[in-house]
Amino acid sequence: VKPSDYGLDPGYDAVPEIARSVVAQVPENEREPGTLTPAILKAFRGGELPRYAVAGRYGGATEDLDPVNLTVMREALMYGCSGLDAMFLLQATGGLLLAAAGSAELREQWMPRFASGDALAAMALTEPGAGSDLKAATTSVREDGDELVLDGLKSFISHAEVADLITVFCRESTGGYSLVAVPAGTPGMTITGGPALIAPHDVAEVRLDGVRLPAAHRVGAPGAAFSEVLKTLTVTRASVAGSAVGLAQAALDEAVRHCARREQFGRPLYKHGPVAALLADSAADVEMSRLLAYRAAIQARDGVPGALDYASMAKLAASEAACRVVDRCVQAMGRFGLIAGSRIGALYLLARPLRIYEGASEVLRLGVARDLVARLG
Ligand SMILES: Cc1cc2nc3c(=O)[nH]c(=O)nc-3n(C[C@H](O)[C@H](O)[C@H](O)COP(=O)(O)OP(=O)(O)OC[C@H]3O[C@@H](n4cnc5c(N)ncnc54)[C@H](O)[C@@H]3O)c2cc1C
Repeated sequence: VKPSDYGLDPGYDAVPEIARSVVAQVPENEREPGTLTPAILKAFRGGELPRYAVAGRYGGATEDLDPVNLTVMREALMYGCSGLDAMFLLQATGGLLLAAAGSAELREQWMPRFASGDALAAMALTEPGAGSDLKAATTSVREDGDELVLDGLKSFISHAEVADLITVFCRESTGGYSLVAVPAGTPGMTITGGPALIAPHDVAEVRLDGVRLPAAHRVGAPGAAFSEVLKTLTVTRASVAGSAVGLAQAALDEAVRHCARREQFGRPLYKHGPVAALLADSAADVEMSRLLAYRAAIQARDGVPGALDYASMAKLAASEAACRVVDRCVQAMGRFGLIAGSRIGALYLLARPLRIYEGASEVLRLGVARDLVARLG
């Protein structure tokens, strides 16, 4: 896909090329499903990707981190290797948070390392008792002299085991919520891998027992965590929509190739009306999702009022569409869609988390509906 064919500036056409060149460095048998193999880590750290996750003043590829780059890049990465896609999202999330709200000390220490791929980022919001309802988080931060002290347990934290800096969402002892950047190896922080997911993806538990850090490790003002996270979500939800498009396109391409080759009743499958409908409806879903994803990314880039609502709608629509598409593609491929270890089988599983992470569909629908009513006045 050429982004300029969809009305984006031709400058963005280089982005999928960069993604493809990094994917090409990962051996084919390690691309799906993309848990963090050494080859994926090496391709990510050594290539251009980290530079697209950080703003130019810290060594990034563009002056400001560009949400359109992020969305287009994730589309192409998810098409080729979901592990690289996940790494890229986490690096960009870490970069966005630190750039927007990190102390000068944190930014100078970490941002150039994020840009070079020397350091990897992770983000810890979720807890056993706090998923969609982040306000239920109990991990605490309190001040003790000029130090911060953290206690609590985070779960389902992507790439925590390889991250060099984990940004942790905490409840302030004085009220409100804050973000604190915790470097790997800080005494009191223990990381335990698992659980294994049906859509392979590296998540871990992060335990914080009396972790002590200088006050400069707070990311943003005390109590400002929600507004910082919401700003990030405008960009990252648009990018999840991009990732969903890449996955759906990959599934569709698999199914089209199969249905063009395989014959039943003397004709290729795609010439049987119901199979044609599976493919055609999927193509329409992919195109609609791509347009939504790109528009959401443009709104995030340009700071359009309501950009978060639009990004949430794009994430909702594209992730739901990706699951519909991959399900239709498996159906169109018949028993060949069910082979364990096949690409279509991996895509079928990998589609599922898209509707859950970065805002589950049901929760996003509440926001979209609220926004619709508010606009009617
Ligand atoms: C692959 C993967 C990677 C992840 N990586 C990270 C990470 O790096 N860092 C991190 O912090 N977290 C991470 N998470 C956790 C993720 O953010 C949570 O799964 C997500 O916030 C949803 O929370 P939950 O799973 O606890 O579901 P719950 O909040 O328990 O929701 C369960 C169901 O109830 C619905 N629901 C909940 N509340 C409402 C409501 N008010 N109205 C209507 N429906 C509702 C939800 O939509 C969902 O269908 C990851 C999750 C996955 C699957």
